[in-house]
Amino acid sequence: LRHLVLVLGDQLDPEASGFDGFDPAQDAVWMAEVDDEASHVWSIQPRIAIFLAAMRHFAHALVKAGRTVHYTRLDGKGNRGSLAAELELAIRTHRPQGLVMTAPGEHRVLKALQAVAAAEGVPLEVREDRHFFCTVREFAAYARGRRQLRMEFFYREQRRRHGVLMDGDEPVGGQWNYDAENRAAFGRAGPGLVPAAPAFRPDPLTQGVLDLVAERFADRPGNLANFAWPVTRAQALDALADFISHRLADFGHWQDAMWPGEPWLWHSRLSAAMNLKLLHPREVVEAVEKAYRAGHVALASAEGLIRQILGWREYVRGIYWTRMPRYLELNALGAREPLPGFYWTGDTPMACLADAIGQTLEHGYAHHIQRLMVTGLYALLLGVEPQQVHAWYLAVYVDAVEWVELPNTLGMSQFGDGGLMGSKPYVATGRYIERMSAGSLCGRCRFKPAERLGDDACPFTTLYWDFLVRHEERLASNPRMTLQLRNLQRLDADERRRIAERSAAIRRGEVGA
Ligand code: FAD
Repeated sequence: LRHLVLVLGDQLDPEASGFDGFDPAQDAVWMAEVDDEASHVWSIQPRIAIFLAAMRHFAHALVKAGRTVHYTRLDGKGNRGSLAAELELAIRTHRPQGLVMTAPGEHRVLKALQAVAAAEGVPLEVREDRHFFCTVREFAAYARGRRQLRMEFFYREQRRRHGVLMDGDEPVGGQWNYDAENRAAFGRAGPGLVPAAPAFRPDPLTQGVLDLVAERFADRPGNLANFAWPVTRAQALDALADFISHRLADFGHWQDAMWPGEPWLWHSRLSAAMNLKLLHPREVVEAVEKAYRAGHVALASAEGLIRQILGWREYVRGIYWTRMPRYLELNALGAREPLPGFYWTGDTPMACLADAIGQTLEHGYAHHIQRLMVTGLYALLLGVEPQQVHAWYLAVYVDAVEWVELPNTLGMSQFGDGGLMGSKPYVATGRYIERMSAGSLCGRCRFKPAERLGDDACPFTTLYWDFLVRHEERLASNPRMTLQLRNLQRLDADERRRIAERSAAIRRGEVGA
């Protein structure tokens, strides 16, 4: 055997760089389903299922295309349980001259595979992942010498470099950013008729995976009864076409809005397909720009979506690979609280958290504002150790791969990196959730978002003030916090004491548990 080409669960593209020069006569593919990857964090059932189902479909397609695939099934006899142990066995069995792979999406996995290759004395060639607009090296060059990194400027450079939504040297429409036209909340009547999200009914192969996961991971949270994620390239393309035709037009406007019992709204639901590499982000960006140029959608919606993919998605990847492994340990605010147990059940009287966590465990999905301003915000205000928050986010979303999950969680949401991802902590009272859900969440909750003290006070609101008090000194030098801290001056010593007392009770689980 010349090359054994290693393919991980989030590298499911036959055109990936790992396959460059692949010769079916001399090379073979290696893929392994292992317990460790489902248990490194306490992955919920939908997350395990999407990876395994997509891997099995991909392996089938490779075999059909005439490639030899050495595939270890999770329930295969003698499965050694970890990628490293399985690779070691594969090297000893097939004796390849070399190993080849596309760069993985997680630092830990890269190190583990490199260690096996070194121990076995087989060269491992790690190739650039072409599923991004910007390489890690390019990002590092961009970041070097800049005192402050800001997504907005990185994004503009990406637009120019890749000629996305550009008229010559100028952004289409004359502006880079249309956020002012986006991010509305629904009226009291709610979202009205939400376009149905496409459901990809499990075929027999996927059903086999669902049965396996349900049995083997019966103790994990999550529900597979409604599993309908795209797990093949063809399904991913259908999901993209469906989004462009039915939801993109209103995406921008309702991007930040929330409504109970409506998990999808106008979101694309394409993150998992892109992260598994069933879909190239360039395909998504091109389809969105085309819909705009054809006059089917407004510029604000198209720009809003493209900013997320060409901007945020690339930016977080650059942060991850230029800051790991130290990034994983950061805890700028010294947060030490444990993650509340209800994050694994959704069993809490706080309606917004119950709703966001409930749909997360059911579908492995929540949209950005739910992740940032409901589950993320509560953990931040409570003072949960960012590593525990990270382990939760990595476990519960079908799109969770560490390169994208970690900077979003530890950085953007928990301010654990002290301001690299976002220039200030995203903190707000329960009023924010009330506004973005047009009162629909708070209306069904026993807590009052406008109150910071008393039995009915919303825990978000109490903890918001407590957060400002606890971090007043650190945040005082941040000009973006001036307004929020100025309001803190109005609190006298007695009120501060009562806020601290109630916050302590919340942390002890005596309120909101
Ligand atoms: P849409 O709202 O339709 O957005 C379109 C696309 O833009 C997404 O598919 C995604 O690829 C990209 N995107 C949007 N925001 C971001 C962002 N902040 N970073 C990177 N890409 C972005 N995204 C993941 O893909 N995996 C994760 O594990 C993940 N963890 C997150 C954790 C926290 C605490 C937060 C605040 C955000 C996280 N995100 C993560 C980003 C974002 O919430 C999801 O990409 C999005 O909700 C996925 O749903 P969608 O495909 O319907 O997205």
